[in-house]
Amino acid sequence: MEQQPHILLLPFPAQGHIKPLLSLAELLCHAGLHVTFLNTDHNHHCLTHLQPLSAHFPTLHFDSISDGLPTDHPRNIQFMRDILFSVKSVTKLRFRDLLADLSTKSERPVTCVIADSIMSFAIDIAKELGVRVMTFWALSPCSLWSFLCFPKLIEEGQLPVGDDDMDRMVRGVPGMEDLLRRRDLPGLYRLKLDDPFFISIIEDIMAMTRTSALIFNTFDNLEDPTISHIASLFSRIYTIGPLTTLLTSRIEHDVSRSLSSFNNLCEADRSCMTWLDSQSLRSVVYVSFGSTGLMTRGQLLEFWHGMVNSGKPFLWVVRRDGIEGAEGEHPIPEELQEGTKERGFLVDWAPQEEVLAHQAVGGFLTHNGWNSTLEGIVSGVPMVCWPTIADHQINSRLVSEVWRIGLDMKDTCDRSTIEMMIRAVMEERREEMMKSMDRIVKLAHDCVDQGGSSYHNLDKLIEDIKQV
Ligand code: UDP
Repeated sequence: MEQQPHILLLPFPAQGHIKPLLSLAELLCHAGLHVTFLNTDHNHHCLTHLQPLSAHFPTLHFDSISDGLPTDHPRNIQFMRDILFSVKSVTKLRFRDLLADLSTKSERPVTCVIADSIMSFAIDIAKELGVRVMTFWALSPCSLWSFLCFPKLIEEGQLPVGDDDMDRMVRGVPGMEDLLRRRDLPGLYRLKLDDPFFISIIEDIMAMTRTSALIFNTFDNLEDPTISHIASLFSRIYTIGPLTTLLTSRIEHDVSRSLSSFNNLCEADRSCMTWLDSQSLRSVVYVSFGSTGLMTRGQLLEFWHGMVNSGKPFLWVVRRDGIEGAEGEHPIPEELQEGTKERGFLVDWAPQEEVLAHQAVGGFLTHNGWNSTLEGIVSGVPMVCWPTIADHQINSRLVSEVWRIGLDMKDTCDRSTIEMMIRAVMEERREEMMKSMDRIVKLAHDCVDQGGSSYHNLDKLIEDIKQV
């Protein structure tokens, strides 16, 4: 009997990883394929509002698996290590049993696994069970290239990156010799080389080359030289981003807009949209450090002063778990109360893509998570970058020095720099940045339109998946 394609998608259990993979799941289902999206039990529970997705995509099924942590574990960025190690021990074992069942006993056996690169245990398990496996890199291609160059960086004596001479140029990442300073390497390189977290991620990256294809949430022309370097190590690469924009292009605009709001672990506070409606054109700075941004109370105050002193209206996502060592509310300091009341609007979680697309938004103070960076690009909103971990440091370098659509304040956090950079992006240097931005925005939208490279590459990926 002919086997029908059935894809199992396995995200790493974090917002920035789930969202793009869920968009991919929707795109595959839209093409008529059967997809099982495997969340951890905890995230499955947070995403209880996913029912409408199943109603819209009858071939999309959700399943869940334990992350191995106790029910009352906070599972936020401050405990990323717990999540990583637990997933790689407990979830790994359960995944083997689950895939064994789904690929043999089920009515429609799984024929292909697309696993987040950080879930590399799925690669060997799938191979062992005779199921095809592809890998999805949820971060930026430039960060992956810098990780793939890890042996070369060691050989060149570039690692670990300490606090000394952070402005020294980095040798060992071909194509980026004149671009990267030590401080621009992904945050992971700031860890000790024998740190189990570091070792674990590097092992994941090395495992990726054992898969039959690599999928990127990026678009052609954005990082072409980097993609060419990576392509020499993989048999097949699919660049199909920006995924949420491709979703909009393939599915009726209004439907995809409402669907993308389902791809979040937190419920958005939509009151900010009404507030934005009352603001003037391109006047507002949107401030968000994603789901992983973490700052001290001191840094929070510097940002607060900087924002209020800039004189610009601001919409700020202040996550409760985003302030180190603090719990619950963050009282507004007395000297900032007036300015915040006059010009600020604070929320726990915003409908970010809608916010960035709103005509009142003129600037984006961001941590440069890869999804946020792409979302800033497709909406044409220039950025002030405050990178902290993961790929943020290298992304912000490209934003400021290659694409020239923002300013990078990495490794600083003082109110005067924040104020100065906000003013530059909103006024003094806006025209020059918008020229570069307009070009990149057009590239992004052309790629997802019919005939564009991301549109075409998704078709190729679907054909590839169908070759059972
Ligand atoms: N996001 C959101 N509302 C918020 C903050 C973030 O919808 O208030 C979404 C944002 O649109 C992005 C994702 O959360 O798609 C964050 O992913 P990213 O890769 O930017 O950063 P991470 O959270 O992984 O650090």
